[in-house]
Amino acid sequence: MTQLLSETYLDYSDILIKPKMGINLNSRKEVVLERVFKFKHGQTRTGLGVFNANMSTVGNFAVAKKLLAKGMFATIHKHYSVNEIGNFLNQCKSENVSVENLFITIGLRNFEEQIQKLKDLESKYNWNSSQNICIDAPNFYIPKALDVLVKVRHEFPDSVIMVGNIASGDICLKLLDYADIIKCGIGSGSACLTRKQTGCGTPMVTLILECADIAHSVNGHICADGGIVDIGDICKAFCLNADFVMAGGMFAGTDEADGEIVEKQYQTNELIDGRAVVQIKRFKQYYGMSSEYANNKFAGGMCNYKTSEGRELQIPYTGSLDKVLQDINGGIASCCTYIGASSVKHMAKCATLIQVHNQLNKVFEKYSV
Ligand code: 5GP
Repeated sequence: MTQLLSETYLDYSDILIKPKMGINLNSRKEVVLERVFKFKHGQTRTGLGVFNANMSTVGNFAVAKKLLAKGMFATIHKHYSVNEIGNFLNQCKSENVSVENLFITIGLRNFEEQIQKLKDLESKYNWNSSQNICIDAPNFYIPKALDVLVKVRHEFPDSVIMVGNIASGDICLKLLDYADIIKCGIGSGSACLTRKQTGCGTPMVTLILECADIAHSVNGHICADGGIVDIGDICKAFCLNADFVMAGGMFAGTDEADGEIVEKQYQTNELIDGRAVVQIKRFKQYYGMSSEYANNKFAGGMCNYKTSEGRELQIPYTGSLDKVLQDINGGIASCCTYIGASSVKHMAKCATLIQVHNQLNKVFEKYSV
């Protein structure tokens, strides 16, 4: 029988973290941001569990290097060649940037070639198979996805393997037989059209609670992917028990993201000496990996049985990625002091989350400069 669940599934904008008395922390400096992750299939990694999305706009070398240098985690997208990745690894080595938290993405299409790509990286370059792999598919429910995961685990028994995306708890246990991290989130992304085109998706807050509960019961980890609008949403995800958070749009307006800066002129209502004041605004291109633009760029066009589930956007230019990363560190540390958590690891234990009707005061939004 068709089921309609009456429980309301919540998103980041439906909740807040309630400040409260906890342990005495006098300063954000006292908060420990890095966390030790002991993965289900044997490896250990240390860092702040924030990833850039494995999209061609923000899963590029420049963004990845900065996140790694800042002690976070990083992905690089699946369209780089062996030599390009190899050169990047060498460059990181020469600049003393650790690539221990770097995940190399492979897709389901032509996966034998992609497995070969990882083997070539191992034989020719400074990558070893105990490092990290991200297996990416917009819909990890298709049977082929599990087949590919099983083969990758067989070929790389010591790697940390992250897979996704999924948007329900029921599939987590099956995937965690082979994977270490499950990437959760379908339809939440800022460049995503899946909910419009298919009606499918699960709001992030309820999804994180559901998946974390199941994954943690077998020592698996989850990564909350998509829908991060503000840094506060990263804090909320950690408080909800997400181990990692992945963001695309948050990094896409920066200098380091792929793409040129586009300048546009706007005539304002202000007059100076009788002449209208013109304002210049700067933008960067951001597109979904299932958008028509991405299909044209990487797959030789849209197949005639597909609809585009991603869109192409011009989003505001936000300057250096350093500033965004510093704000992320600062926001998380501050959140910890509001809830009395001495470290990111303790956020979920310390947090009380509340459902709200009104999250932000937007009265002066249009005046922001
Ligand atoms: P954002 O941080 O921009 O809200 O979301 C980034 C996430 O959106 C990515 O990590 C990925 O999971 C998802 N995504 C990227 N491109 C597309 C797309 O074309 N379609 C859909 N449905 N999701 C996408």
